[in-house]
Amino acid sequence: MKLRNIAIIAHVDHGKTTLVDELLKQSGTFRDNQKVTERAMDSNDLERERGITILAKCTSVVWKDTRINIVDTPGHADFGGEVERILNMVDGVVVLVDASEGPLPQTKFVVSKALKRGIRPIVAINKIDRPDERHLDVLNEVFDLFANLDASDEQLDFPVLYGSGRNGWMALDPVGPRETLAPMFDLIVSHVPPPNVEPGPARILATTLEADSFLGRILTGRISSGTVKPNMMMKALNREGKLVENFRVSKVLAFRGLERVPVEQAEAGEIVAVAGMSEATVADTLCDPSVETPIASQPVDPPTLSMLFRINDGPFAGQEGDKVQSASSAIA
Ligand code: GDP
Repeated sequence: MKLRNIAIIAHVDHGKTTLVDELLKQSGTFRDNQKVTERAMDSNDLERERGITILAKCTSVVWKDTRINIVDTPGHADFGGEVERILNMVDGVVVLVDASEGPLPQTKFVVSKALKRGIRPIVAINKIDRPDERHLDVLNEVFDLFANLDASDEQLDFPVLYGSGRNGWMALDPVGPRETLAPMFDLIVSHVPPPNVEPGPARILATTLEADSFLGRILTGRISSGTVKPNMMMKALNREGKLVENFRVSKVLAFRGLERVPVEQAEAGEIVAVAGMSEATVADTLCDPSVETPIASQPVDPPTLSMLFRINDGPFAGQEGDKVQSASSAIA
């Protein structure tokens, strides 16, 4: 099956969740009698409050003979390094913009990182059903945003879809046909290149980390070369190439619809979650024992603030206050 890995970049409330739900429904990922119960990329309360999306999740839909993995991106500038790692998993992005609000500043950071990676975006102007929609202005604003972020001519020559995720249609023309999301699926398949895979043994750049009560530590990332199977021996290398640990893969999970299912084998290009490690973390390379060089990646951001609590050894120590300190009571 052909494969495409994409991310949808959108400001909160511009309709990403609704659109992904509709993509799931129309791709036939769900049987007709099955309901989409969980909303695909629903944000948590904190994200909603801050107007951003934090959690990176992956949803996978099948369109004709192509599997499309849709990675959620943080829509904001915090967590440096994380955005780059997530974008490293994809070869295309859909920039989804509300037809009334236009592009908002919080998405600028992620869009700039995508452009820097050389990704040629697809722009989707959503909620065109709104009475206050202004798609022509919004298109110009998106163009100006990309131009200000030093997009190349090729990137500025982006294809545009207009539509309403909630009403289940996207079209190359704002007037329609207002029928299905087929034009969006087809454009993703034709415009986004297949994953860039390299020859060689198994390698995955760990992109997100989570804890599962049954499987323990789970790292998710894109397989950049080779094949990953349960029970194979792998090792984890940190960014400097130092061995973190050797481990046996206990499970390989692939994304199917909203679920993750165990698979017997996953090939280069696929995005998978791997369990079995106990130390490895984000930005490490999970690889075949024969691999010596890690995949280049951004460091996980150091904390932005650190504090040191220690004994007062200033010249006025002991002259004020009522707390008695001794030199040995310093708190590390
Ligand atoms: P997200 O935060 O980007 O995931 O946005 P949601 O999908 O949760 O949608 C935010 C709000 O916009 C909800 O109230 C949706 O019902 C509404 N919405 C989503 N798609 C459309 C659309 O195509 N047209 C209109 N008018 N509203 C929409």
